Amino acid sequence: MAADTNPFESLQSQIDDAAAHLDIGDGVIERLKHPERVLETNLTVELDNGDLERFKAFRSQFNGDRGPYKGGIRYHPAVSRDEVKALSGWMVYKCATVGIPYGGGKGGIVVDPTEYSESELERLTRAFATELRPLIGVDRDIPAPDVNTGQREMNWIKDTYETLENTTEPGVITGKNITSGGSKGRVEATGRSTVLAAREAFDYLAKDLGGATVAVQGYGNAGWIAAKLIDEMGATVVAASDSSGGIYNPDGFDPVAAKKHKNETGSIVGYEESEEEITNEDVLTMDVDLLIPAALENAIDGELAEEVSADVISEAANGPLTPEADAVMEEKDVFVIPDILANAGGVTVSYFEWIQNRQRFAWSEERVNDELETIIVDAFDALVETYEEHDLNNPRTAAYVVALQRVADAYNEAGTFP
Ligand code: NAD
Repeated sequence: MAADTNPFESLQSQIDDAAAHLDIGDGVIERLKHPERVLETNLTVELDNGDLERFKAFRSQFNGDRGPYKGGIRYHPAVSRDEVKALSGWMVYKCATVGIPYGGGKGGIVVDPTEYSESELERLTRAFATELRPLIGVDRDIPAPDVNTGQREMNWIKDTYETLENTTEPGVITGKNITSGGSKGRVEATGRSTVLAAREAFDYLAKDLGGATVAVQGYGNAGWIAAKLIDEMGATVVAASDSSGGIYNPDGFDPVAAKKHKNETGSIVGYEESEEEITNEDVLTMDVDLLIPAALENAIDGELAEEVSADVISEAANGPLTPEADAVMEEKDVFVIPDILANAGGVTVSYFEWIQNRQRFAWSEERVNDELETIIVDAFDALVETYEEHDLNNPRTAAYVVALQRVADAYNEAGTFP
């Protein structure tokens, strides 16, 4: 793990790579490399034993040229100002890549949620929601889940906001329970877009997905759903890992049963269909047709990239490859479907949730999945068109070329204010 790679610098270098292929003024590019604003706040929360504890939290609003800021809230001990800035920037270019009318934002609290009770986490979440209240809103900034947050936290944030604002505004946040205004298909959306993008890539490269072997790093929301859906498409999941280690079976294993084991024991390690226990690094370097990194950023650095043997990578996680790793993949001719397309299903179905909340009308799951598929396939086609037109070696650069142009156009078309 390349812990010393600053994800914000990675984002800026990705923008520079794409800007080299575009005719956009330096001043506009400079604007598109920095967040518009970052909230840094200290939350003081009462613990169950009566003690007070301080938690640092952030919300970065990177760019709003194409619509309201949009992006998740992460609970993790490694959350930092630069991580949140990077993640918020990736949201801008993700929304632009798939053509949905949002800018980008991201937030996080420096906390290991496993060390706190549910009531402590509720107080922490509501304290953060209170700080966020002046910044967020259905047309302003719309948070969502990210690592270690889910429907429960989104419901608390919605309730805090609505109580303080004396309104009902479910579209202020996405990723809610269905009964609180969530969308069908949202929980599966990130894994679904990851495998839809992989399917399109295999088709483009004239490879057979039905006969493909797959390794998945990270068996949380994004990773396990990707494993389940790629298995349903006929591919064989041979390896997977979580933060405790990895499992391997050359003949493949049942992703649903592996998830059940993880739910029961806390980890996929020890799952009975596994022939061998392997390390997380083994999963990343395994000789498979498709690798799906679905844990955290910087999972593969330049050194580890030399060992990667997959032909195609579909990035469910945000920023799993460092820029050095990207350069190695380019040399090795590994087709990397970038995070800003591969995992865009999450924000796309969040967008559908927001539409449904505004319409006060719920869509069927079939409609959600159909509309998602159309958006991901169109975005993949736009990426390939740019990849070929500019004769690029790296699909990530192609995605950024598409996205940067769209954001710059929105900025330039708005004219100058004041
Ligand atoms: P999650 O918390 O549900 O799952 C994370 C998984 O990664 C867990 O299984 C954890 O054990 C594992 N993990 C952590 N460190 C690891 C390591 N060093 N090696 C192997 N496994 C490790 O989170 P998630 O929602 O699935 O998010 C995963 C990634 O996908 C993140 O980068 C997130 O930003 C991105 N993402 C998620 C969504 C979404 O809708 N959930 C949307 C877009 C992007």
